[in-house]
Amino acid sequence: MKITAAVVRQTGAPFSIETAELDAPREGEVLVRIVGVGLCHTDVLAREGGMRMRFPAVFGHEGAGIVEAVGVGVTKVKPGDRVVLTFGSCGHCPTCDIHEPAYCHNRVGINYGGVRPDGSFFIHGEGGGIHAGFFAQSSFGTHALARERNVVKIRDEMPLEIAGALGCGLQTGAGAVMRSLKCPKGSSIVILGGGSVGLAAVMGAVLQGCDPVVVIEPHESRRDMAMALGATHALDPRSGDIQQAFRQILPVGAAYVLDTSGAPAAIEGVPGYLAPRGTFGFVGVPPVDRADLKLPGTLREVLGGGFTYRGIVEGDSDPDVFIPELVDRFLEGRFAFDRFVKTYPLKDINRAVEDQHEGRCIKPVLIP
Ligand SMILES: [Zn+2]
Ligand SMILES: [Zn+2]
Repeated sequence: MKITAAVVRQTGAPFSIETAELDAPREGEVLVRIVGVGLCHTDVLAREGGMRMRFPAVFGHEGAGIVEAVGVGVTKVKPGDRVVLTFGSCGHCPTCDIHEPAYCHNRVGINYGGVRPDGSFFIHGEGGGIHAGFFAQSSFGTHALARERNVVKIRDEMPLEIAGALGCGLQTGAGAVMRSLKCPKGSSIVILGGGSVGLAAVMGAVLQGCDPVVVIEPHESRRDMAMALGATHALDPRSGDIQQAFRQILPVGAAYVLDTSGAPAAIEGVPGYLAPRGTFGFVGVPPVDRADLKLPGTLREVLGGGFTYRGIVEGDSDPDVFIPELVDRFLEGRFAFDRFVKTYPLKDINRAVEDQHEGRCIKPVLIP
């Protein structure tokens, strides 16, 4: 079928809106008409060549929409169902078997392979095949082909336009606090970065009953939003001695530090924020030119503090369980991510990327 999609022709090129041909769903695939798709930092990283995807390519991995058709063998959803698209996983490896699909042994091929396992393209455009299947969806378009495992049916009351944001960035932030770190009630947490992932972590920390919840973020509008969502303190890392300002709030350090920024300068300071026996969780991916970024602290520091370091993908989400849970919290008004979403027409995707980079908006959602 004919679709319109935002195509990246080569590494670092801007998104270009093109007409292309999308295959009909094959065995195990689900055709979804996209109603809204979030813009996640990983899309920008992928455009810059940071996700090992080949070009030309269609990115987009926070789609939400309505099922239009299903391929042979699909029983989980049917045409007309309202779904959120999330990351792909195989369903038959040791980590999928224990409901930890974010660490699927086959995740690279499924999420970044760009073609089907048999080498065929999903999308065909000017000049031939276009790499797609990004996070088993490539949803920067009017339609996307997902797989049965990465579509999650959601309640009718949930506004579909913004729901896709739950499929990656928001479940990553909330899940890091609620599932990976499982921060207990009354525990202290520092969240580095107040973008959409960091703000989802703030809401997750409030749901867990953490106290205090300290956010460290350079943009004033994001600090204000963090406070509005329940953070107890929001500090500007550029104003004076940040470690000293932090120690006034938590003299012995925090039980948990979560990095959502991937910013080398922020991460360097982590050992200074941790209380003895503290845990450092990290979800932020460093920029392409700092892909070799090492963990902070010396071996002696980490050993002496009894620190735990924990890498986290997608907030350890089991999407079939956790996305409906976040939808419930949203509808209760306790996961109010609509407060920091801004919608753009898909054709304005380059402007959305720039606005997010410049701090003019926190979470863009594109409407095809
Ligand atoms: Zn697997
Ligand atoms: Zn993402």
